[in-house]
Amino acid sequence: MNKRLLLSTPTMHGEEMKYVQEAFDKNWIAPLGFNCDNFEKEMDEYLNSGIDGQAYNTLALCSGTSALHLAVKLAGIKSGDIVLCSDMTFAATVNPISYEGGKQVYIDSENETWNMDPRALERAFEKYPNAKAVMVAHLYGTPSKMDEISDICKKHGAILIEDAAESLGATYKGRQTGTFGRYGAISFNGNKIITTSGGGMLICDNKDDRKFAFKLATQARENAPWYQHEHIGYNYRMSNVVAGIGRGQLLHLDEHRELKKKIYFRYKEGLKGLPLKMNPYLEYTEPNFWLSCILIDEDCDKDPIELMNRLNEYNIETRPIWKPMHMQPVFKDCDFVYVEENGVNEHIFEKGLCLPSDIKMTEDEQNFVIEKIREFFN
Ligand SMILES: *Cc1c(COP(=O)(O)O)cnc(C)c1O
Repeated sequence: MNKRLLLSTPTMHGEEMKYVQEAFDKNWIAPLGFNCDNFEKEMDEYLNSGIDGQAYNTLALCSGTSALHLAVKLAGIKSGDIVLCSDMTFAATVNPISYEGGKQVYIDSENETWNMDPRALERAFEKYPNAKAVMVAHLYGTPSKMDEISDICKKHGAILIEDAAESLGATYKGRQTGTFGRYGAISFNGNKIITTSGGGMLICDNKDDRKFAFKLATQARENAPWYQHEHIGYNYRMSNVVAGIGRGQLLHLDEHRELKKKIYFRYKEGLKGLPLKMNPYLEYTEPNFWLSCILIDEDCDKDPIELMNRLNEYNIETRPIWKPMHMQPVFKDCDFVYVEENGVNEHIFEKGLCLPSDIKMTEDEQNFVIEKIREFFN
């Protein structure tokens, strides 16, 4: 039996150990410290890579979810506030809204990126003119329609939060995802394009927000000789050891992106002629190609779950498309706004599948996956 071919697993390079070793050598194992500071600085530089002179204010945290939670808090979401959210995403995008008592309204996707449809967003603002914020995710590393979404948010005075957990390194018209909103969140979970085993980062568009987020993430301590508190705080900071892994990984982010891109195009080429399409993106965007996915044509009656089971027999891991939030039992009370009667997301969920996209997969191994997919359709 071949070794199991997986969706996406950590790829380490050695530099990570150098920074971790430095933390050990200096006995700087506590949270905060030089690796955290430098990781934030280096990420700032990376995020600026697409445009001139714009400074971002990054904050290293213990997870992408904690970054999203702080973004929701800083956006001032309180009990009963409406947040218009991506529907096709992972639950971590929207759970923090519930932590704060807010109410999600889910927005259907469009067919060009599988992300939030600006037309449905506009429609949602007609229904919920007081919606306080918009939470947009860049699914599988593909940038959403950011010009349209940013304009709609501005027009309605809503705060834009970007969940860039899956899309680090992806750009929209040359600008990094996560830097369009007032807040952005990145994840370094084990399956993401770079990883610290677990971790995340909040991106703020101004220094004051970053400062307040830092305070909340470190137990909301005020500047006093004793422990003084004026807010409810959290213990959300990244540890200095973990940040060392992140610094080493960041050196290889572009390389990971290139390898992911090769995988995507090898699938595209290898699966030509079959009744399916790859996950789409806009030509003026550059995804990070975190996960390669297929969508079986509407008029083909093949079932992706059958394909998943078949590939599993060959030790190939695949996974259904993230199940839309409006279809989740836990969110059954939330409204869902769409423009296309038959619903874009339900169709993508029913006919889509995520393929092995691990950058350690060899060309031969990927050809094996392609061969088995072709066999299924023939
Ligand atoms: C992974 C992920 C998160 C959560 O990040 P963690 O670091 O695991 O907390 C949030 N949103 C999306 C879309 C994700 O894929």
